[in-house]
Amino acid sequence: MKKTRTRFAPSPTGYMHIGNLRTALYEYLIAKSQGGDFLLRIEDTDQERYVEGALDVVFNTLKATGIDYDEGPGKEGDCGPYIQSQRRDIYKKYAEILVEKGAAYYCFCTKERLESLKTSDEALGTGFNYDRHCRDLDPEVVAMNLAAGIPYVIRQKMPLTGTTTFTDAVYGDITVENKTLDDQVLLKSDGLPTYNFANVVDDHLMGITHVVRGNEYLSSTPKYNLLYEAFGWDIPVYVHCAPIMKDEHHKLSKRNGDASFFDLVAKGYLPEAILNYICLLGWSPSGNEEFYTLGELEKVFSISGISKSPAIFDIEKLTWMNGEYIKRMDDDRFLGLTLGTVEDVFKNAGAAVPAPEVLKKIALLVKTRISTLAEIPEKIGFLAALQDYDTELYCHKKMKTDREISLKALGIIEKAFGDSPEVKENFVSDKIYEFLLGVAAENELKNSQLLWPLRTAVSGLPATPGGATELAEILGYDETMRRIADGIARLS
Ligand code: GLU
Repeated sequence: MKKTRTRFAPSPTGYMHIGNLRTALYEYLIAKSQGGDFLLRIEDTDQERYVEGALDVVFNTLKATGIDYDEGPGKEGDCGPYIQSQRRDIYKKYAEILVEKGAAYYCFCTKERLESLKTSDEALGTGFNYDRHCRDLDPEVVAMNLAAGIPYVIRQKMPLTGTTTFTDAVYGDITVENKTLDDQVLLKSDGLPTYNFANVVDDHLMGITHVVRGNEYLSSTPKYNLLYEAFGWDIPVYVHCAPIMKDEHHKLSKRNGDASFFDLVAKGYLPEAILNYICLLGWSPSGNEEFYTLGELEKVFSISGISKSPAIFDIEKLTWMNGEYIKRMDDDRFLGLTLGTVEDVFKNAGAAVPAPEVLKKIALLVKTRISTLAEIPEKIGFLAALQDYDTELYCHKKMKTDREISLKALGIIEKAFGDSPEVKENFVSDKIYEFLLGVAAENELKNSQLLWPLRTAVSGLPATPGGATELAEILGYDETMRRIADGIARLS
């Protein structure tokens, strides 16, 4: 059996669409699950669409997600170059071979002529199909035109009768009437191939066994089949995937402003969570497990799990999954990803940057309380700068507090802290907590009647990551005392 070889073949547009990334992932997983090779090929023959820096977006996305290619730009194998604009001569040669075989022909129609055909087709309400004007030109005329340097394209000569059938691994057998197929351009007048030609030539020369792509290519696949047949080449396994939808009626798209891979990363989503989530959009594992590392997917992925029906991209589900990934991440990696952000929160607020061990405590305090990394600043901002707050926050039925009790409680805490050098010297959550329970008992107050006002005074928030004494420890003795005094002033 032939070694499985798949390829990701992006056109460098400068934007890694979520659907493209899923295609790359499926190609990669098919290769890896079958012990095969995964290639990267850059499809840049449409020079009008060239975007500066677009290749880096492709490379960086694959790097960030761990989708490593075995061959491609920068990792030359036996089938290079892997950038189509550097393969120009190859396509020309194969287009000419097709002409010799009678499966393609030179076309010298001018732009103006084609435009007028298009206009009349539009007027008739039919889609544009070339009228095959040059299909049967006398070979002598062709030779003369070529010798005279008249610009030409090479077109595929479709059979005019009969049908073409191909099998797709997801959609099954599909049959089309050959007479409906357009004599499409294979080689353009600038000497570069169209996608429709280049993909076939390259997939063959690169030994590709499985082609995964969006189902918008299904209708062109019979034309590719006819090309493979004309050359006498093996037809790869076609795996067409249903689109990823924004909602029931709209596809995810750049034009609609839908997030790209790097937009999601910038919004605080982890590459491994994004990858896990999008893998499940269009593929179902055999069991109920939803969480997979890339390494696990390499073992369990199978083409038979790919679905025909479009899946809706549900940002809430991704957000939930991302939160789970953050919770399960080991602390060191989490700190590596977030300490800079935590530090910036203090710098941006013009506050003193806490000591490294305090920054770590702050980061770990939010680790189990966020769904995306982007939530960190808003969750911890109060530690850098206390915002104005409504003293209504002190009144909490369940905690049995109101303004009066809170004012009294803060006064008691302020005095108790001030009178106890041992608390000040060892200002850590457990000790403060124990100490305050004693203070509450002495003053015949419920624990909550001290802890709630303290929490409110140090945070100014109705909900906080961490309890009163954890926050006090992070703020340190001096800042805690300042905020208690501020609370007293607000309540007085
Ligand atoms: N260059 C095509 C695209 O980006 C690739 C389609 C394919 O994988 O064959 O849509």
